[in-house]
Amino acid sequence: MLLTRLLNACHRFPGFVYEGARLDEAAKTIEVQLRPRRGSKPCCSGCGQCASSYDQLPERRFEFIPIWGFAVLLRYRMRRVRCEACGVKVEQVPWAMGKHTLTRAYMLYLAHWARKLSWQETARSFHTSWEKVCQAVEYVVQWGLEHRQLGPIRAVGVDEIQYGRGHTYLTLVYQIESGCVRLLWVGKDRTIESFEKFFTMIGKELAEKIEFVCSDMWKPYLKLIAKHCTHALNILDRFHVVAKMNLALDDVRAAEARRMVQDGYEPVLKKSRWCLLKRPENLTDNQRVKLRDVLRYNLASVRAYLLKEAFQDFWNYDSPTWAGKFLDQWTSQVMRSRIEPMKKFARTIRIHRELLLNYFRARKAFSSGVIEGLNNKAKVTMRKAYGFRTFSMIEIALYHALGKLPEPKLAHDFY
Ligand SMILES: [Zn+2]
Repeated sequence: MLLTRLLNACHRFPGFVYEGARLDEAAKTIEVQLRPRRGSKPCCSGCGQCASSYDQLPERRFEFIPIWGFAVLLRYRMRRVRCEACGVKVEQVPWAMGKHTLTRAYMLYLAHWARKLSWQETARSFHTSWEKVCQAVEYVVQWGLEHRQLGPIRAVGVDEIQYGRGHTYLTLVYQIESGCVRLLWVGKDRTIESFEKFFTMIGKELAEKIEFVCSDMWKPYLKLIAKHCTHALNILDRFHVVAKMNLALDDVRAAEARRMVQDGYEPVLKKSRWCLLKRPENLTDNQRVKLRDVLRYNLASVRAYLLKEAFQDFWNYDSPTWAGKFLDQWTSQVMRSRIEPMKKFARTIRIHRELLLNYFRARKAFSSGVIEGLNNKAKVTMRKAYGFRTFSMIEIALYHALGKLPEPKLAHDFY
């Protein structure tokens, strides 16, 4: 079977003809000649209208999907058109866009694999460069962002993840309702100015129709959610509340352990970190023994630990009223404990009392599990995407992996 026949079966364009293929064994390439069909008119790349031919440019090569280890190149001499509206312009060809040297089909193909493999692995598997994989993903993501449908949006989750070195953050907004879980937006930093851009993107109408927003206690987030999502219930994410309390508990333990060493006491708190932070049911046998040992002592760390464990009951309530009563009792108990980091946590909880109770008002429909899962995926994407240094690269990789973006359709499925 001739290669041109194969191409006509999967990659055929009415105004163009495949003229023949040549195998170069040394260079491991197959070069396929393309020419305009006789009598067909070129189309202007400026406006898409057909126009009369002006002249022809030197030959260009376009990379097509490789076959059996051979690179496939389409060779074509672009025509220029004399367009009434745009003047003299290069023609528009259906297999590629602009200055891209990769064909549309190949870009979709690479982008498809770049979602399953790392970009580096994709480049290696198809004998191409990391930069070309990157171009392919960029094209697919840009197309997807232009063609995606944003609304209606019922529930969103806002979270931050760290990237690069030092304290640089990304703000991520996910749509988290059943049936539609996807990344909606990525922003640099976690400031009011950056988060405001998300609301500019979705517009006032969509923002006001959002019913639930899950977030952590970061002030700029809370402020803008209240400002824009005027009809939404802002729910504080359980995961973040627990993480904040664990931070307080860990402060208590670390300071106390240091003090005990300084004062020459037996180092009972040594290696106790995870025994205290983990839930009892998740402890290993060794940790369980260690915990039992530590709990015999009258230490601030032990009292803080017991307070933390007592707080677990909070999440079991169904009624916001009773959950609120529990919260008040628990915080006043902590305020009497004389353990400063825990008291600080309790004060934070008091300030955000209403937002915490929203979790019960929303009937626990939006727990942090979904957001946590998405965040883990985002972190994996960033790790796999090793080689991304700039924000715009990370942005593209994240949209590609988590955005569930629509893709341009081809006449033939290549994968
Ligand atoms: Zn034109």
